[in-house]
Amino acid sequence: MKKLNPETLCVQAGWSPKKGEPRVLPIYQSTTFKYETSEQMARLFDLEDNGYFYTRLQNPTNDAVAAKIAALEGGVGAMLTSSGQAANFYAVFNICQAGDHFVSSSCIYGGTYNLFGVTMKKLGIEVTFVNPDASEEEIIAAFRPNTKCLFGETISNPTLEVLDIEKFARIAHSQGVPLIVDNTFPTPINCRPFEWGADIVTHSTTKYMDGHATSVGGAVVDSGNFPWEQYADKFPGLCQPDESYHGLTYTQAFGKMAYMTKATAQLMRDLGSIQSPQNAFLLNLGLETLHLRMPQHCKNAQAVAEYLSSNDKVAWVNYSGLPGDKYHALAEKYMPNGSCGVVTFGLKGGRDVAIKFMDSLKLAAIVTHVADARTCVLHPASHTHRQLTDEQLMAAGVRPDLIRFSVGIENAADIIADIEQALG
Ligand SMILES: *Cc1c(COP(=O)(O)O)cnc(C)c1O
Repeated sequence: MKKLNPETLCVQAGWSPKKGEPRVLPIYQSTTFKYETSEQMARLFDLEDNGYFYTRLQNPTNDAVAAKIAALEGGVGAMLTSSGQAANFYAVFNICQAGDHFVSSSCIYGGTYNLFGVTMKKLGIEVTFVNPDASEEEIIAAFRPNTKCLFGETISNPTLEVLDIEKFARIAHSQGVPLIVDNTFPTPINCRPFEWGADIVTHSTTKYMDGHATSVGGAVVDSGNFPWEQYADKFPGLCQPDESYHGLTYTQAFGKMAYMTKATAQLMRDLGSIQSPQNAFLLNLGLETLHLRMPQHCKNAQAVAEYLSSNDKVAWVNYSGLPGDKYHALAEKYMPNGSCGVVTFGLKGGRDVAIKFMDSLKLAAIVTHVADARTCVLHPASHTHRQLTDEQLMAAGVRPDLIRFSVGIENAADIIADIEQALG
């Protein structure tokens, strides 16, 4: 069959029932799977046969949803994780160990920043954060002989910087390491980083992919393109025998599936951050309408951003869809059909005015969440980043007056009317 379009993949990919099987992807709510002989099970443990034995490693519901996400991104394989945090940890930890180093854009989600800068440091893995808008030479200067990957976010949460994916891919490949991109905000409907040279993509599926704020989850997707064996000394975990798997070498045994197989066979086995099949089922329902929801999010966000930028109570607005936005040109290149539904802005009068505005909203709810069907709002300086001083906030790229407005899929006129009455 000819390559299917994203809209068709959203609805159909991942689950192809055979005669008499359920049309809808079932929830395999089972921890374990039955075999006829002891030998059959032994072959699974040796990774000599494909098959399910324990849901911590693999589950048919999760695998079908992971296959849909892999198809949408254009990857060779994917795994679901219990959260976006787990996805980013696995993506890096699969190729980094104590004593290693990696380079990351500093414009990333706060939880990821903390994971990389604090928790992974405790595991002996060091990160250097770089300004993604710096020159190639400046970013390359952060690399060391023990650097194992480069990391960035397509559109950063909450500061909405757009990553120059081709530039980052060029830098990573010039240093013999893969580029990992967190593609949560645009989703593969609006951007497919593999088409621009990224090697591995991660997601917090909690956001637009689920889209209904029901299920925390994550995903790791591999393009299958990175030539691990060309840099075998750098990636011994993939290119040298795994003693915990009878001396098997992932690149030799699994080719393009080496990275995903290692992530499943080692990281899921030992760390166990699985997504529950129930959540995977809900995620799949979300994915079935992702291609319908993303354009509506973008259309509404564009209308909200235009309204805000023409209102004299508003000090500034960030949205890459605005022609004057710093990232407009990059967004046009990587996301010609729209970026995402999140708009950030500041009100004249700063922090106190921001709080009064938020408390006056009626339709838009104050929640920690972002990027789902219902319009919601957050003031990072008062909520997610409240432990930081104004100076620390500025250093993290989060202005103290920044309001993160996540535009939902309601009617744009109603959302704008709510903003208007709250501005008073
Ligand atoms: C929310 C988010 C994460 C973390 O995902 P969880 O599902 O909350 O663990 C990672 N990256 C980005 C860009 C996010 O928005």
